[in-house]
Amino acid sequence: MIAYLDPQQNQTPNPPSVAGDPTGTGTGTCTCTGTEADPWIATASSDFGGTFHAVPAAVIHPKTSADVASTIRLATGTHHLTVTARGNGHSISGQSLSDGGLVLNMRSLDQKMELVTLPDDGQYCVDVSGGALWEEVLEWCVKNYNMAPVSWTDYLGLTVGGTLSNGGVSGQAFRHGPQVANVVQMEVVTGDGECHVCSPVDLSELFYAVLGGFGQFGIITRARLRLQPAPSTVRWIRVAYDKFEEYSADAEQLVNRTRSEAFDYVEGFAFVNSSDPVNGWPSVEFRSGPSFDSGKVPVGSGPVLYCLEVAVHFNNQQSDKVDERVHEMLRPLKYIRGLEFTIDVSYVDFLSRVKHVEKEARASGSWATPHPWLNLFIASSDIVDFDRRVFKNILKDGIGGPMLVYPMLRNKWDEKMSAALPKSEIFYLVALLRFPQPYPNGPRIEEVLAQNRHIIDCCRSNGYDFKLYLPHYESETDWAEHFGDDGWLRFVKRKKQYDRTAVLAPGQKIFSRVSN
Ligand code: FAD
Repeated sequence: MIAYLDPQQNQTPNPPSVAGDPTGTGTGTCTCTGTEADPWIATASSDFGGTFHAVPAAVIHPKTSADVASTIRLATGTHHLTVTARGNGHSISGQSLSDGGLVLNMRSLDQKMELVTLPDDGQYCVDVSGGALWEEVLEWCVKNYNMAPVSWTDYLGLTVGGTLSNGGVSGQAFRHGPQVANVVQMEVVTGDGECHVCSPVDLSELFYAVLGGFGQFGIITRARLRLQPAPSTVRWIRVAYDKFEEYSADAEQLVNRTRSEAFDYVEGFAFVNSSDPVNGWPSVEFRSGPSFDSGKVPVGSGPVLYCLEVAVHFNNQQSDKVDERVHEMLRPLKYIRGLEFTIDVSYVDFLSRVKHVEKEARASGSWATPHPWLNLFIASSDIVDFDRRVFKNILKDGIGGPMLVYPMLRNKWDEKMSAALPKSEIFYLVALLRFPQPYPNGPRIEEVLAQNRHIIDCCRSNGYDFKLYLPHYESETDWAEHFGDDGWLRFVKRKKQYDRTAVLAPGQKIFSRVSN
């Protein structure tokens, strides 16, 4: 237990000036909390996945990047302390935990946002804290300037620093690239406690290292994000398929369309061919629209069906043109006629769609139970085989939550970033977002984790071109394999350059702390 750290002064003089507030964003000056009864210690000892636990020595609530820098310097001055940036703790496998180290509650950073115009091309951007939630960024940009970032995650209760440390993908990634491809500048505090401003032009090696870098090279305290005008409305469409080959061919054709013919959003998921309310037909229909007419599913269809989900942005004054445009865009697709579902929603409601799921899951208790999720990137050339072996076989009864499967393009990611990807130009995100019922109503968590390992083994043993997204490994050999020979050499070199003593992000279990 540490009584009180004032990272500005590198000393431990007084009790905390502000008590921990795990539900809020912290107030007052930088504080540290660390008694055993402190609710912040309990909060920072676990994550959304709920299967990993590690108790930190203390939780620091920085207000400024100088507070972050002093905390890191304090840790590097010891032989053993580590520092973990905790965004919103929505990792699955302990990535935001720190066993016996210091956890920085990034939500307590000053949350001021600012609109900026780039001098060279007049592009509008927003400067935000690394601890800002994407839902806060959306609200501020739309309310004040009717603008919005171009690339999102499905769920917006994640911090900017948390998703930029991984990738940040959703149905806009095929068109605009992932969130990491839409940052123009960052303020980063490296493992020596120095604060830098980096961009593709200034300190570019640090800039690209941090993007998708799992928090290994520096803590993102501010980020400058590209904006576009926010549309008023989104036409949100779902169409169902019985054949995976047709589903994937259509999805790939859609992500390859030229900009003027492209949807603004392309995603999709596999679902069970049954009336199961969570895994089956009802997961396709919209609340206010017609029900799924299972009579339209061709006789002899397999255990799993597929739903392509697309969207078009428009402003209300163009609504007369949108019907015709959407009709033309859908016409060549091979979905099952009669199984199309359409709804118009406001842009903010569309981007906030998972908030409703969160509310329901909190009410039912399933938000707080363990979430043994698995995320993979799988090459287009292997996805049909994956469907046959995994969706139609191992997961044919569903997983108690969404099974996302949709394509994106490698050329929208910059190779200089740390993120590791399959070699294929088109690859799919497969996200198994499990919300299992607690045992004995649902499976034991160990069984679900074993099934995840079985799926990864299946990808390995069949020689797929694939990567884990949001990976968790325990051994250096596995990490080296994840990055590949050149990627691993570059990753290790960057670590030596920016965090020599491996003070940062120990929860990723990539490097061990080196004593001074
Ligand atoms: P944390 O879990 O707090 O931290 C994750 C890692 O990033 C840790 O190693 C941490 O040390 C590091 N980190 C955090 N902040 C910083 C910072 N400022 N600087 C440097 N390192 C930092 N991902 C997608 O791509 N698309 C989705 O649609 C999507 N949906 C999700 C929905 C839910 C309900 C959940 C739980 C997760 C989802 N994710 C999605 C995964 C999510 O993007 C990652 O788990 C992300 O890391 C979570 O952000 P966080 O702020 O909670 O980060």
